[in-house]
Amino acid sequence: MTPQCEVVGSCATAPTAAGSASSYLVRGDTGFVLVDAGPGSLLAYLQAGHDLAELRAIVVTHLHADHSLDLMAWAYRWTFPEVLPEIPLFVPAPEIRRLKQFDALFGIPTLPTMKSPIFQSWSVHGLPQDGTTWHEVDGLRFLSYAAHHSVPSAALRFEANGGGVLAFSSDTGYCEAVVEAARGADVFVCEATYLEADSDALTGHGHLTARLAGQLATEAGVRQLVVTHLSDPAMGPQALVDAAESFRGPIHLAAPGLTV
Ligand SMILES: [Zn+2]
Repeated sequence: MTPQCEVVGSCATAPTAAGSASSYLVRGDTGFVLVDAGPGSLLAYLQAGHDLAELRAIVVTHLHADHSLDLMAWAYRWTFPEVLPEIPLFVPAPEIRRLKQFDALFGIPTLPTMKSPIFQSWSVHGLPQDGTTWHEVDGLRFLSYAAHHSVPSAALRFEANGGGVLAFSSDTGYCEAVVEAARGADVFVCEATYLEADSDALTGHGHLTARLAGQLATEAGVRQLVVTHLSDPAMGPQALVDAAESFRGPIHLAAPGLTV
């Protein structure tokens, strides 16, 4: 069975009227893995009717604020008013030091459970981004790959028992590692930050246009494509047209509540 993906929020950079910034749920055997904790994601998760007790793990693809800023909101909630059960938190391995700086900034030394909110809430694991080291959680297993971005960024490949595959590009330029992450996926959630962009944005900093997202999906041989992380939600209709120039399968526009 293919792991199911539910979009909590899909906006790039900041929440808009269209919902929260990057945040997705992957359904496991008994609960969910949260992929990214962008601004507004905690509120959006609760407003979607989910309970904190349903979370089995958190994976943050990279530490740009639009994917990680709400981690502290989640951690505060995890430790106050009561302390919730510890679950794993995965981030790209080179970013663990920077994650400790989040705690140094926002920890509350006078509250014993909130001195280091993130490291006290969760068991923190570094993702090696090597495409070979499996992590297992709640009946799912996943690999992480080195996406091409201005900070360490992990493309993800989730597999369920029975072999269904759900992949996430994270923020990335076009690169072989993300093609491998998405290879033969049943569902590929791919960033499409721009409609048009110069090479600095695409191959320097590292993002995709909707056209490139379609090309990447075709090269990887995926079955269904979900385009997300549009720099402006108004781009949606054109992003679908552009992605369809190079990808012939079903294409969905990520939006809160979309379940694929
Ligand atoms: Zn980014």
